[in-house]
Amino acid sequence: MRAPATVAVTATPRAAPPAATGAARLVALVVLVAAGGSVAAACRPPSDAPPAGRLAVVAAFYPLAEAVRQVGGGRVAVRDLTPVGGEPHDLELTPRDVDRIEDATLVVVLGGGFQPAVDAAARRRRGPTLVVLDALDARAGRGASEAHGSGRLRAGDPHVWLDPVLMQDVVRAVGERLARVDPGYAARYRSGSAAYVRRLAALDARFRSGLARCERRTIVTSHDAFGYLAHRYGLEQRSVVGLVPDQEPDPKTLGELADLVRREGITTVFTGRSVSSRVAETIAREAGGVRVEVLDPLEALTGEQVRAGADYVSVMLDNLRRLRRALDCRP
Ligand SMILES: [Zn+2]
Repeated sequence: MRAPATVAVTATPRAAPPAATGAARLVALVVLVAAGGSVAAACRPPSDAPPAGRLAVVAAFYPLAEAVRQVGGGRVAVRDLTPVGGEPHDLELTPRDVDRIEDATLVVVLGGGFQPAVDAAARRRRGPTLVVLDALDARAGRGASEAHGSGRLRAGDPHVWLDPVLMQDVVRAVGERLARVDPGYAARYRSGSAAYVRRLAALDARFRSGLARCERRTIVTSHDAFGYLAHRYGLEQRSVVGLVPDQEPDPKTLGELADLVRREGITTVFTGRSVSSRVAETIAREAGGVRVEVLDPLEALTGEQVRAGADYVSVMLDNLRRLRRALDCRP
């Protein structure tokens, strides 16, 4: 609670000069406490502060928040800047979000132009910030992770979290940074990181075997979010729209899509959760005879998913089931 503390420090010399009696000091103190309390109530409700003994971490959107939660467990209190059901691309910040970014012990952002306002606020703050794409670039440069294989990061594509292998590197980067920021709990972060990396490795194995033997290998998506995933598992992604969701597909793109569907026997066109149903209907109409299904880009959980207890791994397994159905994969 920085604001009330500042009020008290600057007001004390004026409110209680050295000559003041004990009673006057007491009155001044009571007034200050009341003022401090009301300032706190006006701009920082008590629920906004991390519970005592927990590290305040701000994460830019769901997959990063999930990585922090999995690594930090009960030691961290994570605030996700992107609301449930929200749209993280080009997220705009409220003044309160900016306060949270300034006050957090650690801020975790993706970087790479995915959320320019978030990146700018994170650059302005004085405390430590983990820029995930920079950390992944550094890992690839060091050759520290065999995980990258041939894969360098795709220029301009931020969607690294949809590759369960790159997500392991995200988790490792979070674990290393938390251990530096909060060294007293370094062992906790190391074990949390290792445990979640093992779960992600198991998820990767499910994708590998699940997508090994399929009738088709082309996926058509309305939001070009699955490039890393496609590259990892030998699929080809054809996007109807582009890297940013909610754009309307143009007639030329829809014509090409219809050709592709005919040529390759595509049965399913995937849309993200945030894509309007109008866009999905347009796609289905133009590419006649195809199903429109959700392939979740995991940019934010919906309220329904939160209530159902869904998380990164469970939503990715849903995605795998839908991919297998669309591509006619054998067991
Ligand atoms: Zn996206």
